[in-house]
Amino acid sequence: MSENTRPPTPRPSQTKIVATVGPACASREKLAELIRAGVDVFRVNAAHGTREEHQDRLDDIRAVSGQLGQPVGVLVDLAGPKIRLGELPDGELSCLLDQQVRFVRGEKSERPTDLVTTYAPLVDELAIGDRVVLADGTVSLVVERVETDAATCRVTQAGLVRGRQGVNLPGVKLSVPTLGEEDRANAQWAARAGVDFLGLSFVRAAADVLQLKALVEADGAPTQVIAKIEKPEALDDLDAIVQAADGVMVARGDLGVEIDIAQVPIVQKRIIAACHRHAKPVIVATQMLESMHHARIPTRAEATDVANAILDGADACMLSGETAIGEYPREAVEMMHRIALATEPAGRDRPPRCASDPAEPGTNPITDAAAFAAGCLAERLDAKLLLVATASGQTALRMSKNRHFVPTIGVSDSETTLRRMCLYWGVIPLAGVPTDEPGKMMQHVVERIRAAGYLASGDRIVLLAGTGLRATRHNMVVVHEVE
Ligand code: PEP
Repeated sequence: MSENTRPPTPRPSQTKIVATVGPACASREKLAELIRAGVDVFRVNAAHGTREEHQDRLDDIRAVSGQLGQPVGVLVDLAGPKIRLGELPDGELSCLLDQQVRFVRGEKSERPTDLVTTYAPLVDELAIGDRVVLADGTVSLVVERVETDAATCRVTQAGLVRGRQGVNLPGVKLSVPTLGEEDRANAQWAARAGVDFLGLSFVRAAADVLQLKALVEADGAPTQVIAKIEKPEALDDLDAIVQAADGVMVARGDLGVEIDIAQVPIVQKRIIAACHRHAKPVIVATQMLESMHHARIPTRAEATDVANAILDGADACMLSGETAIGEYPREAVEMMHRIALATEPAGRDRPPRCASDPAEPGTNPITDAAAFAAGCLAERLDAKLLLVATASGQTALRMSKNRHFVPTIGVSDSETTLRRMCLYWGVIPLAGVPTDEPGKMMQHVVERIRAAGYLASGDRIVLLAGTGLRATRHNMVVVHEVE
């Protein structure tokens, strides 16, 4: 069997897996190993490294994807206005309960209890009573006094902080733009380099998303924007943000610091539900298999967290440090894949839903109804596969959101669209399929999937395509029985 006819993974999960790249999977061999284990999309975190390094990563992923004959998406995650501590005079500071520490201006701190940050106007924008959270939520401060050159805080939750760690200001409205100079430069590079998805961190309003989309579109790039939900303000504008974005990430790392951590599980469900209403893919991220940084198996709670995210309706689950810097990147992907395979059948008990309002922009009511009908037909006939030819990926996304539980092969003559579909739940993008004529397309797919051992005589495939009378609409459903 040639590499091109090999199915993407032994048995692809319907839930997509996003894996963050880093030193633990830097070589082409390691990337190939992770793709074989089930990775659909790689995330390059622009908060770490230079643009030259990001370009190298992108080149490596594209090369390996080409060698394996398997489309793989790339998500470049922009750092956004993340505030970080500067260096500390002693490298670290043990904050004791009720101790006073100060935020001061400048780039270097002289006293052990004086903190400087990457956000120059911080001292001006803090007010008495504001909460400041350091080191991923482990240390909390409250502002007690503000003077011209310093804001004095009292430690309300003790702990150790180190230089360069994150600073979160839950509920504080900062004047910092969501898209800074560095993010703009990275976005422009990513768009020109043909990156598939751009993650926008710390989105506060739909206008932030639209601004990044305008920047990308000005370059004529097809790069899509994933809004990372991690600020309370974003929850106030959730529907508009989801509508404006091409996809969403539940960025639980910062979200769990910016809002009460006890609210995170319910907020996750709320964000996923909004994404289903608007038929947008949604990624659940951060600490999914955290203990696998240093262990071959996750905790029971982590395995259950992945399963619950899938049952909540996540289209994709993400690995962060587990694959970027962990000791067991392949095992982490394999574990996520196994949990997905074990969990997905439980979702079948739920009736398929027509995900979003057909009046949603970009939706053709005929395509929408035909996609829904094709899924129902496939379920009724116990079809092995659904097959859809799609120009932009939009029809495949709608089929994915209907959650029909019949594996869907997405074909397209656009490589961009094939890579986009890597994020769509239940959709397997298949490259190299002729799409000009439905009969030829069906024959080609049947031959390839049969050669890979996934189809036998008598199996049924349901095809959704267009008669070609109107290029932008899918109006034809065909049932094929393998001879
Ligand atoms: C998060 O905060 O959960 C997240 C995914 O963003 P980052 O990894 O950039 O902190």
